[in-house]
Amino acid sequence: MSARATVTERGAVLLGDSVACDAFDESRPLRVVTHAHADHLVGLRRSLRSCEKVLMTAATRDLAEVMNGSSAFMDGHVETLDYGQSVEYGDERVTLVKADHILGAAQVLVEGADGVRVAYTGDFRIDGTPPVMDCDVLVVEATYGSPSCRRVFELDVEELLVSMVEKKLRDGAVYVFGFHGKLQEVMQILHCADVTVPFVMPERVFRVSEVCERHGMRLGCRTLSTEREGKELLDGNLPCVAFYHMNTRGSVGLKGSRLCVSGWEFNSPCRQIGDNEHLIALSDHSDFNGLIEYVRRSRPKRVVTDNYRMSHGVALAGEIRRRLGIPAVAMPRKCGT
Ligand SMILES: [Zn+2]
Repeated sequence: MSARATVTERGAVLLGDSVACDAFDESRPLRVVTHAHADHLVGLRRSLRSCEKVLMTAATRDLAEVMNGSSAFMDGHVETLDYGQSVEYGDERVTLVKADHILGAAQVLVEGADGVRVAYTGDFRIDGTPPVMDCDVLVVEATYGSPSCRRVFELDVEELLVSMVEKKLRDGAVYVFGFHGKLQEVMQILHCADVTVPFVMPERVFRVSEVCERHGMRLGCRTLSTEREGKELLDGNLPCVAFYHMNTRGSVGLKGSRLCVSGWEFNSPCRQIGDNEHLIALSDHSDFNGLIEYVRRSRPKRVVTDNYRMSHGVALAGEIRRRLGIPAVAMPRKCGT
């Protein structure tokens, strides 16, 4: 196989001869979905129609179904793989490797019979993500790829989150805003810290949470915001934690205590952003230092940074060349989003 890896202008991460990750590409018979976030499901319906196989973990399949609000996968050619499991295609072997990001997230390794290795990290946090070693080409995500994106907090963000929620619960309901996956991580953090008030949420968040529990997360006692108990808790401003998608931040819980969880904060683990609103810097991506450290540990011969998704691909490629002496380019040349 060719020692090739690149990112197309439509966001497909091409590995070797047969694989396209995270967007449709007509030249590739295999589609891999690294995880269920929308910017990694690009052109999925087309892939389901025309690829020979669409590969992902079972958790990613279940999450993507719920997050898309459809049973899009029922008639497609989805093949689920566990971490470490491989599929052979032609002279290539495709393996999913664990990534710590949201439930089910995977890195992708493609190996040729000739020993050539190319890989894509997908989105990841460095601590729980084993580096894919000694690749001929490594494609790395670049969300926080600029040196300005460094979190140097002394405080433990999870502990801070728990204490903020406990403090705000004294005044009644606490609204938490975040993206799918991150909301469930917050539920798990609170549940494990023995925050025992009811967790209230709309149906989509509820269903994503069900999938997360089915795949091993522990999220505590949940109530639908549309059912009587949930309505009474929220209308009466009684102690509970309400979990809502970030997109509804402008219209939900405007008078309540509010917390937004976001990785886009580097100066402080917790910052007041409104009268009764704080931002908590809980991220499911590596910061700049984590990205550089991953590349240093994994010792690739060449690096391609993903410059399609909201990212600092060009900056990261430059820093990898400068700091690590490893050839690196950002692809596609023009940022896609
Ligand atoms: Zn993601």
